[in-house]
Amino acid sequence: MKKKYVMALDQGTTSSRCIIYDREGRIISVSQKEFRQIYPREGWVEHDGEEIYRTQLQVASEALFKGGLRASDIDSIGITNQRETTIVWDKETGKPVYNAIVWQCRRTADFCDSLRREGLEKEYKEKTGLLIDPYFSATKIQWILENVPGAREKAQAGKLLFGTVETWIIWNLTGGKVHVTDYSNASRTMLFNIHELKWDRDIMQRFDIPECMLPEPVPSSKIYGETEAHFFGEPIVIGGAAGDQQTALFGQTCFSEGQAKNTYGTGGFMLLNTGEKIVDSKNGLLSTIAWGLDDKVYYALEGSVFVSGAVIQWLRDELGIIKNAAETEEIARSVENTGGVYIVPAFTGLGAPYWDPYARGTITGITRGTNRSHIVRAALEAMAYQTYDLAKAMSEDIGCEIKSLRVDGGACENDFLLEFQADILGGEIYRPVCTETTSLGAAYLAGLATGFWESLDDIRDNWQIDRIFAPAENNNGKILLEGWHKAVKSCVGL
Ligand code: ADP
Repeated sequence: MKKKYVMALDQGTTSSRCIIYDREGRIISVSQKEFRQIYPREGWVEHDGEEIYRTQLQVASEALFKGGLRASDIDSIGITNQRETTIVWDKETGKPVYNAIVWQCRRTADFCDSLRREGLEKEYKEKTGLLIDPYFSATKIQWILENVPGAREKAQAGKLLFGTVETWIIWNLTGGKVHVTDYSNASRTMLFNIHELKWDRDIMQRFDIPECMLPEPVPSSKIYGETEAHFFGEPIVIGGAAGDQQTALFGQTCFSEGQAKNTYGTGGFMLLNTGEKIVDSKNGLLSTIAWGLDDKVYYALEGSVFVSGAVIQWLRDELGIIKNAAETEEIARSVENTGGVYIVPAFTGLGAPYWDPYARGTITGITRGTNRSHIVRAALEAMAYQTYDLAKAMSEDIGCEIKSLRVDGGACENDFLLEFQADILGGEIYRPVCTETTSLGAAYLAGLATGFWESLDDIRDNWQIDRIFAPAENNNGKILLEGWHKAVKSCVGL
């Protein structure tokens, strides 16, 4: 009998999750476990690599149990993960030599400044598609080799391995047999030549990172190996992996060139499928690998906003003017507009397309009549304005307007936000029934490798619209945008 389900392991920044899907893309079972965030110093963020792996195993077993399933019911496992987070471990003992350095960690900011001063930005951008930034893995690996006693010597002797999180999980699940990274995750390391699909010798040399510690880059949909039998009772095939934003694009079935998705989570991430070509952004976006599938590699343009839904958490936790995120919709609707108030949530600087690490948050246009509802509405509107800025940058890079957007992430439950987004974008916003696109994309990648799903068309049919948000006639989006850009100017480049 054909196996009925695919298991997605969703290893995120704050929790490990497991979601089991059926062939129609319906959720059968979910399990989730949070893990520790470690902040050793201001601006430093770490996780315990073993805890990442342990919680991931726990949720996988629990999801099977909750669904009344056994390993033999599972066709394959697909993995999606927090990207760029860096783990270096001892090949013999399997123990990390240092905590996982998380993508958010800024400890290598000075080193990145010095690389830029050396004039390497242009070359690195050309080869890797990325801007030099502590965000990416390369400087994090370098930091570990430099600062953990004996690490560099061990690495040179071939005794240490590096991996982003999917690599670490695959290595562990296969009992140390398989050391691979999928192309999308490789493309976030700043060590990977996205044209040639190879680790770049010059960059490795600059960072003194020996090639023997790097995983083998492989397509995102491919049978990498199988789990050791003792984990789940019998082996399960591991059939795919990709970074979280890439699997969200895949889960939204944005398979065609020109299709884009935006995720409104803690941060905001927009990805646009650029097909088999790399678009070199002139507007502060990154070029990245979307996925490797069927012997081809597909690329994407990516823009990220550091603070999206997090501005709502700020209203709740720091200002204390809302009780929960969901009530922001009603509060925003209780006023006709913000009365000229704009919030630029540049709490940790601004990402794409402004890239100003020194910008800080600003509220402009406050009058004696400004009240809580105006502030709440301005916070939601800021999420839409920032998304618009990314869409505009992408449109300019590809020379064609983005007229529709598929959306997901926690805040896409907010109808006010999406209505306003449609007005500001001047285009349609599509919210699917299943907004768990990140894990669903990972399941699809695995199930395509095994034949659980036969083709992309097979999967496309699973994508169902919950609601389409269209721009209101005669809306004043253009005028509002002028005000937004003035507010941004007041806190950028100071
Ligand atoms: P992540 O995966 O990035 O941790 P989620 O996709 O779960 O985040 O989204 C959570 C974010 O969405 C939080 O920052 C929260 O403030 C915001 N959020 C959740 N529900 C709503 C809502 N109804 N309206 C506005 N923001 C919301």
